[in-house]
Amino acid sequence: MNLEQQLNELTGKLYGKNIAACTNAQLYNSVLQLAKNRMGDKPAISGKKKVYYISMEFLIGKLLSNNLINLGIYEEINSILKKNGKCLSDIEEEEPEPSLGNGGLGRLAACFLDSIATLGLAGDGIGLNYHFGLFKQVFEDHLQKTEKNEWIEERSWLGRTGITFEVAFGNRKVTSVLYDIDVIGYENGRNKLHLFDIATVDESIVKEGIDFDKEQVEKNLTLFLYPDDSDQAGNLLRIYQEYFMVSSGAQLIIKELKEKGCDLHKMHEHAAIQINDTHPTMIIPELIRILTQKEGFSMEEAVRVVSRTCAYTNHTILAEALEKWPLKYIEKVVPQLVPVIRELDGLVAKKYKDEKVQIIDKDNKVHMAHIDIHYGYSVNGVAAIHTEILEKSELNAFYKLYPEKFNNKTNGITFRRWLLSCNRELSAFLEETIGEGFKKNAGELERLLDKIDDKSVLDRLSEIKREKKRQLAAYIQEKEGVSLDAESIFDIQVKRLHEYKRQQMNALYIIHKYLEIKGGSRPSTPVTFLFGAKAAPAYVIAQDIIHLILVLAEIINKDPQVSPYMKVVMVENYNVSYAEKLIPACDISEQISLASKEASGTGNMKFMLNGAVTLGTSDGANVEIHELVGDENIYIFGEKSDAVIRHYAKADYVSMDHYKKSPIIRRAVDFIVGKETLAVGHKENLERLHKELLNKDWFMTLLDLEDYIRVKDRALKDYEDRPKWKRMMLVNIAKAGFFSSDRTIQEYNRDIWKL
Ligand SMILES: *Cc1c(COP(=O)(O)O)cnc(C)c1O
Repeated sequence: MNLEQQLNELTGKLYGKNIAACTNAQLYNSVLQLAKNRMGDKPAISGKKKVYYISMEFLIGKLLSNNLINLGIYEEINSILKKNGKCLSDIEEEEPEPSLGNGGLGRLAACFLDSIATLGLAGDGIGLNYHFGLFKQVFEDHLQKTEKNEWIEERSWLGRTGITFEVAFGNRKVTSVLYDIDVIGYENGRNKLHLFDIATVDESIVKEGIDFDKEQVEKNLTLFLYPDDSDQAGNLLRIYQEYFMVSSGAQLIIKELKEKGCDLHKMHEHAAIQINDTHPTMIIPELIRILTQKEGFSMEEAVRVVSRTCAYTNHTILAEALEKWPLKYIEKVVPQLVPVIRELDGLVAKKYKDEKVQIIDKDNKVHMAHIDIHYGYSVNGVAAIHTEILEKSELNAFYKLYPEKFNNKTNGITFRRWLLSCNRELSAFLEETIGEGFKKNAGELERLLDKIDDKSVLDRLSEIKREKKRQLAAYIQEKEGVSLDAESIFDIQVKRLHEYKRQQMNALYIIHKYLEIKGGSRPSTPVTFLFGAKAAPAYVIAQDIIHLILVLAEIINKDPQVSPYMKVVMVENYNVSYAEKLIPACDISEQISLASKEASGTGNMKFMLNGAVTLGTSDGANVEIHELVGDENIYIFGEKSDAVIRHYAKADYVSMDHYKKSPIIRRAVDFIVGKETLAVGHKENLERLHKELLNKDWFMTLLDLEDYIRVKDRALKDYEDRPKWKRMMLVNIAKAGFFSSDRTIQEYNRDIWKL
């Protein structure tokens, strides 16, 4: 039976209709089922040793297109649907996006699963099945409102496994139920994403927005990712979630090892556990507890085996993100882990006197990262400069103890999703121009450099960019009700909202530009500034920044004097699906974090791969992008990380000094609380943000603002030199191969997992 007959048979069975008579929703369900059947037929990837990638987040995005591509049937399905008067991209719109992650860290986990399977390595993900995910963002009255993000439908990629485990908390026992999502490698076999759910979950306890009773743990445990943790109940719930994940994961790993007949004393020869940031750290004491209490291991032997199995990835040096749980919270949630943690702490204290490396500190707080570093065999950062900062400053005390554990693994992105799927036009053109080798060997993109003087190639790249801008403009017209000029420069900043990422600096540039245009200095090429970002519900200043951007959009887009020259849009509910539409349409990629604060970034890589030019600081992977493309193909500005680190050490940054010194800065900052903004926005939010920038500005916005304005103006000017800009696009695409997550995963495997 050919594919069309199979699909017709499925639509017949499910809906009693042929393809042509089905609605898009019915077709989505039918193609979903067809893909699931095909995936189930793929051989499971196996091997003596397997990696378990354990993570609180897996920001997997929609799966339909990607799975069809990896199965090698995308084109065929596309033409079958076309022949029947249907359109695959409309059908894709029917798929709800799982909201199982927050940002880069979760998206990285998803890219890694794709690459692990594509490389034919045995490796599964372990995480939680949040019913309402992070949250859905809606804008009301120029403010962010939060709603639950429902994504689980009757038919979905989730499969029931029938596997359950008991998870004990101090005061109660719960049942953990395992769901699996198949992960198919590009033209390769099948791994799994294991998602645990609590059997007694109750969606009905969510009332207004995302509010629910945090104490009803049996009902709420798997409802939301990162529930508000601004109070004690919220903190305890996080620990419940983390322990639920690691206890279920540890039981699954041991079950699989036993089924394979492995000797648990040699666990490290059969399993590597990659701990993605500190949230899954409790898997270390939990495994030690299980081995000593249920498998007859001595403490010493259990510690030895587990330490040779677990490896830790650090994602941040932001102090607030390094988890430190009060021991009494852990005692309350999982008293059975406390003796193990105390024992691990005692072993450290006996060997090392340095306060900085202790597990339990003087205030009886447990430093989760310290458990990972002492009792894991590898510690990696996620970009060269980030790992260097870990070694030389943040984790220097540990680096001196264990230099051999430290290593760098610069992040990567899967080219299946971030090129083949999101930019079919570019991908097809590249295939025509340099052959299809780049799909499996990203390094081959460099062959594009041979075409740097080929006018027809350069024109085609620019024509594809224009087409992606038109597509995005049409989508934004429909979704946000704003009409954009596809001939304008698209300048895009999309990422979580955080002061260190400095969306506020971009907003200040926009104010500056607006005032310049008002003053008669009009740009010859109009510019469109696009933002997308969710702010954590308890993060007040981040929400004030969203408010400012929405207010600016309102003022500027409605100003007949200015809007022909610039527009501002903040898209609602930025997620992976939106990213897939925004990134291919971008001319200027905004990567403007305060140097030393963005561990790597992966958005920067996606933009580069799609022919955008980076405007950024010397931070995270921007540094490596800069090295690859050279000075002429990137716009770098701002203080370098060593200078920034010195400012923090000396506490000598005073934002008010910059404000007083510069009339340009003063004019932009004061606009936040000027007549025009107050007429549209809320005084409370705008004044709070203004005050924050003048009196604190912890992430040094005003330090870099003038340099940012200067370099950004230069980039916008350069865009008008079309031949020059097209060559910059080409070089960025050609040099992006290094950032394939296939390369990253090969390095993890070579240096850490050794599968
Ligand atoms: C890639 C990605 C991110 C990470 O972006 P950064 O710019 O690296 O912070 C966040 N959210 C989504 C939806 C992404 O696709």
